[in-house]
Formats: sequence, structure tokens, C-alpha cells
Amino acid sequence: MRPVSSWGRLSALPHDVIELGDRDRIGAVLATHKPGIAHGLGRSYGDECLNPNGVLWSTAGLDRLIAFDETTGRLACEPGVRLLDIQRLMIPRGWSLPVVPGTQLVTVGGAIANDVHGKNHHSAGTFGDHVTALRLVRTDGEIIDCGPDRRPEWFAATLGGLGLTGVIAEAELQLRRSPGPWLDAETVPFKGLEAFFRLSEEDTPWEHTVSWIDCTSGANVRGLFMRANPTTASYPPRRARQKTFPFTPAGLSGQSPDLARAERRLLRPEQAPRRATHRALRAVPLSARRHRAMEPALWSQGLLSISMCRSSHGWPAGSRRHARRHRARR
Ligand SMILES: Cc1cc2nc3c(=O)[nH]c(=O)nc-3n(C[C@H](O)[C@H](O)[C@H](O)COP(=O)(O)OP(=O)(O)OC[C@H]3O[C@@H](n4cnc5c(N)ncnc54)[C@H](O)[C@@H]3O)c2cc1C
Repeated sequence: MRPVSSWGRLSALPHDVIELGDRDRIGAVLATHKPGIAHGLGRSYGDECLNPNGVLWSTAGLDRLIAFDETTGRLACEPGVRLLDIQRLMIPRGWSLPVVPGTQLVTVGGAIANDVHGKNHHSAGTFGDHVTALRLVRTDGEIIDCGPDRRPEWFAATLGGLGLTGVIAEAELQLRRSPGPWLDAETVPFKGLEAFFRLSEEDTPWEHTVSWIDCTSGANVRGLFMRANPTTASYPPRRARQKTFPFTPAGLSGQSPDLARAERRLLRPEQAPRRATHRALRAVPLSARRHRAMEPALWSQGLLSISMCRSSHGWPAGSRRHARRHRARR
């Protein structure tokens, strides 16, 4: 037994963690243990990946690609493959996952069972819309192959099914053509909800849109509306990973000088959109552990994600160095 928690850190109660490593033996392993629930990388906000004092079937070791058809973009893989690995492998080959959530440290099985969405929800639907086939293994050893046209009731119940229909042992995904790893992005500061709705309803076809509202702005609602499209442009390779993180929040209640400066600079309403090019791979210069540690602090300040994209200048947007570079260019 060992403590396991989800990304939301709701609890860290003991679990009997069984590592799955051979997809042909899942049924046999499931049969020899008490009933459990599948567990990917535990990036769920809630507790759907937990089974306190019970069994977890960890799929992280089921991380093999099974087949890829370079002409059609069909990829068959095991459920523990991370979205990060698919993107790294496929984007240079001209293909990409059509839908990615806000972190790439998510398994294919977890993305299917939570039917995750990306910032292109309005144009591409959810992750499940691009799954073409699944193999499920149930605790009684039964194997169910399903898809949109094959045992569709099992397929529909498994997309967003939180692992309750069985362990996904294999998945086939339809990738889409990708022009490259870059997104042409702009950030529009806005003031008031009406301005937000105007921006949301603009006809310009932006594939990705997302907005952050400054929750500390009280009655004078303000925020940042970010929108982006994939681009064929190419840019020099990213610089070596930086070892320091520019923001140093004082804690959950106080605001650091860096954060305050970034906020003043970025949240000026009614100014022209800022354009930048971001890597679609979200080259965040933070380790997953530090990202995890920082995010609650940024959340509490209503400023989550300003720093989470890398700008074309090589520094995280919002950092002091990025601001200096940006000023120098203007
Ligand atoms: C920083 C951050 C940003 C995020 N942004 C977004 C976002 O933009 N959009 C979004 O939709 N979500 C987002 N999420 C949530 C995250 O994408 C989902 O919770 C995702 O499902 C986590 O995947 P996982 O591999 O960690 O699965 P886990 O959290 O381990 O499990 C999730 C569910 O999948 C089931 N499961 C896992 N593997 C299998 C399998 N092989 N067979 C059957 N069931 C299985 C589990 O039982 C559980 O119910 C974000 C999370 C973080 C931490």
C-alpha cells in the first residue's frame, strides 16, 4: 500500500497499486486482485482516479505505440502513452493530436476516460471525437473491441466513462495534419463582460481561444482574451532550458513584485492586441513538479497561465527578461 493523490491533492490515502506492463496479460492480472480502477498519471482535478484503501491499476507502464499509418494519420497505441510523447514524435512528421488539454502529462487512457477538451473545443470537439477504436478489458477477463460503429454503446459509455466500463488496453486515434509546432497567437486585454462576449463572438476564425478573468478586479471585470491559429512559420529552435523561474510569489495571500509588474504590463485594457508566436508543444520552462507547486499560488492571484506559454523571444511571457526584451523591440 502507498499513498496516492490526484492533481487536486484532495487526499493522499493508501492504495494497493498494481503496475500493468503487458497489455496481453491485463485480464489475468485483473482476475487475481480485488476490483480496482485504472490510474493514468493522476492529473485529474478530482478523485476519479483514486480508490482509497483499494486497488489501482496503474497504466503508466503500458506506454508503447502499436501502429501508425503515415498516409491516413491513424495511430494505435497503449493507454499509458503520454500526449507529450505523441506530439513530440508526430509533429515533426506533419501530424498532431487534434485535441490537447492544458497539460501534456496526461495518458491516452486518462484523456479518453475524462473525454478531455482543449482550447479548440468550439472547433474540434473533445478528445473522444477523434478516437476510432478501443479495446477494453473487464475484471471478468472479457475483452470488448468497440468503436463508433462496433458495439457503439460500449464505446459511448467509455468516452468520459471515468474507467468504469473496464481498463482501456488499446486505443486507435485519428491524428490530423499539422503545419508545424508553432501557433500564431494574440492576446487582447478587455474590460467588462460585454467586451468579453464581443470578442468571443467575433467572426474571425480562431481555432484556439481562451480567456482569463482577473478575479481580483471586483466590479470592474477585466481579463485577457487569448486566441491562436496554427502557422506554417518556422522559428529557430528553442533555447536551452532555463533553470530559474522569474515569478517569486510571496505566498497564497501576498503578491510578489514580479507578479504585480507582469499584471500591470499585461492587463492594460483597451490596448492593441499583443502578437506573439507560441510553440504548440507548450515549451514551458518549468518542471512538472514546480509547475504543480506554483499553480495554486498563481490561481489565488487570479493570474494563472500568463506565464505558461513560451514567447517567440525565448523567455516565458510575463517574465522580467521577456518584458525587457519586449520593451527593447518596441
Ligand atoms: C495543469 C492541468 C491542466 C489541465 N487542463 C485541462 C484542460 O484544458 N482540459 C481538460 O479537459 N482537462 C484538463 N486537465 C485535466 C486532465 O487532462 C484530465 O484529468 C486527464 O484525464 C488526466 O489524465 P491522466 O492520464 O492523468 O488520468 P488519471 O487522472 O490518472 O485518470 C483519469 C480518469 O481516467 C481513468 N483512466 C485512466 N487510464 C485509464 C485506462 N487505461 N482505462 C480506463 N480508464 C482509465 C481513471 O480511472 C480516471 O477515472 C488538466 C489537468 C492539469 C493538471
